[in-house]
Amino acid sequence: MSDITTKLVIKNIGQILSGKLEEPLLDGDCLIALDGKIAAIGYAKDMDIDRPTTLIDAHNVTLAPGLIDSHVHPVIGDYTPRQQQLNWIDSCLHGGVTTMISAGEVHAPGRPKDIVGLKAFAIASQRFYENFRPSGVKMLAGAPVLEQDMVESDFKDLADAGVTLLGEVGLGSVKTGETAAEMIKWARKYGIQSTIHTGGPSIPGSGLIDKDVVLEADADIIGHINGGHTALPDDQITCLCESCKRGIEIVHNGNERAGLLAMRTAFELGEAERIILGTDSPAGSGVQPLGILRMIAMLSGIGDIPAETAFCFATGNTARMRGLDCGIIEVGRSADFILIDQAQHAPGKTMLDSIRQGNLPGVGMTVIDGTVRSPRSRNTPPATRLPEIVE
Ligand SMILES: [Zn+2]
Repeated sequence: MSDITTKLVIKNIGQILSGKLEEPLLDGDCLIALDGKIAAIGYAKDMDIDRPTTLIDAHNVTLAPGLIDSHVHPVIGDYTPRQQQLNWIDSCLHGGVTTMISAGEVHAPGRPKDIVGLKAFAIASQRFYENFRPSGVKMLAGAPVLEQDMVESDFKDLADAGVTLLGEVGLGSVKTGETAAEMIKWARKYGIQSTIHTGGPSIPGSGLIDKDVVLEADADIIGHINGGHTALPDDQITCLCESCKRGIEIVHNGNERAGLLAMRTAFELGEAERIILGTDSPAGSGVQPLGILRMIAMLSGIGDIPAETAFCFATGNTARMRGLDCGIIEVGRSADFILIDQAQHAPGKTMLDSIRQGNLPGVGMTVIDGTVRSPRSRNTPPATRLPEIVE
């Protein structure tokens, strides 16, 4: 214990959501994190809760993993030129999001499209967010957009420099399945994960990517399978789910009906672990601070699945698919949590029941790496009960 410097104890937890589809609810009323990692989960009476550096009384609210937004388009710091907004990431933290994953820094004014320029920009973007976390939010960025004439050594250079993601394939000059497939294979060879834009053009200047291109390109994640904004026809969405085993990403900034179709198809296939959630913000539709919570409520409510299952789409499923150490309440993982409760005056017998009726929960606190990053959310409806920092 001698070299432990911080000890977070959260006691009187009412309910724990694990983030794991196979066991979405965990037993226990207490969680201990040491130096930002989960060290113990269980009942306080059996645990060493003495001498915490931070003690939180959860007052019987629910603890869940911090939410992961699998699809965002950051540019720099906590500013987006897309809608000229400041502090959009901080607003999303108040919507329970503690980790974001860039699908390309495509809104940067003057984004370089020459090969040396796009590589330099991707590496710089990765560094910007590695060195600076807006409001503590973990932003995995530095996601280059594929352009014609890239060669295998470009992917090796990117990987050697710390780039781990590709921006949405299809937003640059690489639009055919054949070229995309070759580059995605190179990326994969060097440990770079890929996402492809799926559906109609998002803004003037972008193009259609249909199911044939998506299947031929074979990216790791079928980005916004429900369109961003315009979805593919229903038969193409079900075909994508059935014809490969890649990630099925459903976004807020897409067609909700198509999102429900994708989710139901994944369940019919017995492959719910493929479902992950994103907002695809900032975008033409703006930023959505509550976007991930709204997706959870929409999929649970209209899709008629347990709310604790829907939470897994935005936590454990994404963490597993992306190789992240957050997203699941498990010893050794990052202590990234949200403390949430039924919204005041929301219908439903319990918080989970209330969400299944389509209502948002209230976020009472967020914690990242064992540190409290925000108190009661300024953006969600007010939670009925609130956690409290006791010491
Ligand atoms: Zn897109």
